[in-house]
Amino acid sequence: MTSPIVVPQANPGAGYRALQPEINAAIARALDSGQYVLGHECSSFEAAFAAWLGVRNAVGCGSGTDALALALRAIGAGPGMAVATVSHTAVATVAAIEMAGAVPILLDIEPQYYTLDPAELETVLKRPPAGLPPIGAVVAVHLYGQMAAINDIRALCDRYGVILIEDCAQAHGAALDERHAGTIGDLATFSFYPTKNLGGLGDGGLVTTSNARLASRVAALRQYGWQTNSISQWIGVNSRLDEIQAAILRAKLPFLDANNARRQAIAEAYDNALADGRATRPARRDGARHVFHQYVLRLADRDHVRQRLRVEGVGTGIHYAIPVHLQPAYGGRVALGPGNCLMTEQAAAEILSLPIYPELTDAQVGHICAALRRL
Ligand SMILES: *Cc1c(COP(=O)(O)O)cnc(C)c1O
Repeated sequence: MTSPIVVPQANPGAGYRALQPEINAAIARALDSGQYVLGHECSSFEAAFAAWLGVRNAVGCGSGTDALALALRAIGAGPGMAVATVSHTAVATVAAIEMAGAVPILLDIEPQYYTLDPAELETVLKRPPAGLPPIGAVVAVHLYGQMAAINDIRALCDRYGVILIEDCAQAHGAALDERHAGTIGDLATFSFYPTKNLGGLGDGGLVTTSNARLASRVAALRQYGWQTNSISQWIGVNSRLDEIQAAILRAKLPFLDANNARRQAIAEAYDNALADGRATRPARRDGARHVFHQYVLRLADRDHVRQRLRVEGVGTGIHYAIPVHLQPAYGGRVALGPGNCLMTEQAAAEILSLPIYPELTDAQVGHICAALRRL
């Protein structure tokens, strides 16, 4: 018999209850305003997020997936462009590339950091794979709360004249050498899915850029390609950040830095509990501020350990159990880099995500640490 889970791997309801008065007041304010899409709440949140991050422009939209698709459409991605990214990511990253009509090429990861391998990126930029349109953009995914090797990736994109888009869906507040995720690419995208480091109570997304022309293009594309006077200048979509979500996110943004600090403190407690263990702990890059969207262990006997933790009442997740290139909708169809994503496949078999959200109590963290010490 297994006991019921006492600590779920994710708990968005706890995130709501932690700020219930602020969130309820924000929702009431949005309802009272009488304007429910693209009003004061959305523009205020966009301005607040841009100021918090240190970029000139932020454009809200319907989801993190839409944010990536809009960013790609804004740079002219389509059937004549290949876009390089990783297979070890939320399927959303690759879905967005195809939503924009472009052709994904999925590269392998640096196994210790789980993010895009710059060496393989250099190989495909130097010798573009046959049978693909030219690589016009790279989507660098900052996974689990830690940035990819963004300085190397930025340098390669500059050298080969390729646009860089950062997928920051898991990296609100992450930094490398004091430069924030979302400030280095030509564009960057965020998700406010409820479990992200900044999460709404529904769907939401946002595009950041310091390029005013790209920002206004994204703003047009999110609403039927309208530029002025409700005239469609481009072929757009409907992907707006609604006023209720924007109001909730505005209320939560002032707590983001403290919440990230709490995630880091929990990560340190797990690190200590695992100091003598046989699990590989998450590696931090030199100069990285890791904001621990996930705390991911690596173990040869992952499934066994997962079951043991379940018996102890500790919920775990696997991000991601099946690499995108092995999923039915993509397998055998999407192009892979020369490494054939072998590191990705190896990681998928061995990774395990512990609960790590700011609302975990000290007692829950202590319970998890005790279970980790017994592994
Ligand atoms: C969550 C996520 C997305 C998609 O965001 P949605 O808001 O769910 O559409 C994209 N990329 C990564 C890496 C994610 O974790």
